[in-house]
Amino acid sequence: MSADKLLARLDKVKQNGTDRWLACCPAHVDRSPSLTIKQTDDGTVLVKCWSGCGAADIVQAVGLSLKDLFPDRPHFRTPMRPGERWVPRDVIAALAHELLTSVMYCSAMAAGKQLTQDDSERLTLAASRLYAAWLEVSK
Ligand SMILES: [Zn+2]
Repeated sequence: MSADKLLARLDKVKQNGTDRWLACCPAHVDRSPSLTIKQTDDGTVLVKCWSGCGAADIVQAVGLSLKDLFPDRPHFRTPMRPGERWVPRDVIAALAHELLTSVMYCSAMAAGKQLTQDDSERLTLAASRLYAAWLEVSK
């Protein structure tokens, strides 16, 4: 998703840079904005509450899930040269994306959060993509 879906559900949203915003955190009583939101080049939305709320709590407070912070399909744009099966930079970017996704879900579970069905499916997708990448380079 783009950050718009999240931003539309937050209060006192202020842009403070390219693809960066400040807003009131929906997961705690927040009078002056303490939530920073950043959208990365691949469409991933990063959230940080300076009072310590977790990403899962923040998205759940506005009716979203962690899955909503990630693009459905990461878009990588490096053109391939003739005969090239993959572009190393894109592979590393895709692996980093799936790993970041996995870490976010694992952090939520370690904090005692129950994953939604969507979140569980996204975590399984991340694991299957990482495994598929391993199989591809093992050929
Ligand atoms: Zn908070």
